[in-house]
Amino acid sequence: MMEPMSDTGMEPPMSQETFEELWGLLPDPLQDATCAQDNIADFGEYPIVNTMYAPQEEGVSSSVVSVTSSAVPSTDDYPGEYGLQLEFQQNGTAKSVTCTYSKDLNKLFCQSAKTCPVLIRVQNLPPCGAMLRATAVYKKSEHVAEVVKRCPHHERSLESGDDNAPRSHLIRVEGNIQAIYAEDMNTGRHSVYVPYEGPQVGAQCTTVLYNYMCNSSCMGGMNRRPILTIITLETREGLLLGRRCFEVRVCACPGRDRRTEEENYLKKKGLKTNLKRALPNLPVTDAVLPKKHVVAEEERFTLQIKGRERYEMLKKINDALELQERTEQQKITIKCRKDREELKPKKGKKLLVKEELGESE
Ligand SMILES: [Zn+2]
Repeated sequence: MMEPMSDTGMEPPMSQETFEELWGLLPDPLQDATCAQDNIADFGEYPIVNTMYAPQEEGVSSSVVSVTSSAVPSTDDYPGEYGLQLEFQQNGTAKSVTCTYSKDLNKLFCQSAKTCPVLIRVQNLPPCGAMLRATAVYKKSEHVAEVVKRCPHHERSLESGDDNAPRSHLIRVEGNIQAIYAEDMNTGRHSVYVPYEGPQVGAQCTTVLYNYMCNSSCMGGMNRRPILTIITLETREGLLLGRRCFEVRVCACPGRDRRTEEENYLKKKGLKTNLKRALPNLPVTDAVLPKKHVVAEEERFTLQIKGRERYEMLKKINDALELQERTEQQKITIKCRKDREELKPKKGKKLLVKEELGESE
């Protein structure tokens, strides 16, 4: 009975375990941005003086030990003891949107040099002097060692909004004069950090406004290579307190691109979900059907019966059983009309056996 199965060399469409594994690989969606709207309205009130933290005088990059100084910075989410979380405005996918976040993909879609508010939420207030650092890294392992920088073209051209930010840095902080741009002495990686400020009265999140100063497609820069932004909460000395990551695509049409990517993602996910649903109650698939056919043919018996009266009686019972099985078959395969043609009543039992085998694997 096992034989036809193992002979095929074909896996069942997807076992329960495989599905769970794949499901587990999907990015963990962040929490709903619940406090987004009121907080965003407070842009203009960014405090100019902050007593929590005063930047050191002697050379920015060397004054702070970078937690991202290893050649390959970690991109694992780590809420830490302060429960660091990121949230984003829910901007939808309208044509006019300049910055929108997909929870399904954990990915921010934005236009170059436009405001990208990232809302920082902590469960417990971090120690005085704590900082929030943003670092960009390439997502794919073959590029991860390379420092993410602006493309030569954009680095040269002067924009009206240019402030004290180094021209080669991709990520800038907007509207915060305390922002400090760092380049790691060992790896050359760029990052920008701001002092952590507790949420304003009535708000639950702190907002940091980021700008991405190149398109993902910029030649000689990101060059179509996807990037991640790592947000780390650190002590003044550079000790890591928490880490969160999200993917970023800087493009001309963030709304459209988000919609396209989400549709593709849902298509893939829907396919998996359908396969999972199909397994327990729909054994009729192209992959396994022909084998059942063979088994069923082998399992036919001929019975010698003495006397017509007894034959008629047993035939009635057999007809009734066949009719019953046929009805069940039709219920199961109602969506599989082409397969139903091939199904003969006796196969019902075989199908059930297969089903058990499939599930036990
Ligand atoms: Zn560029």
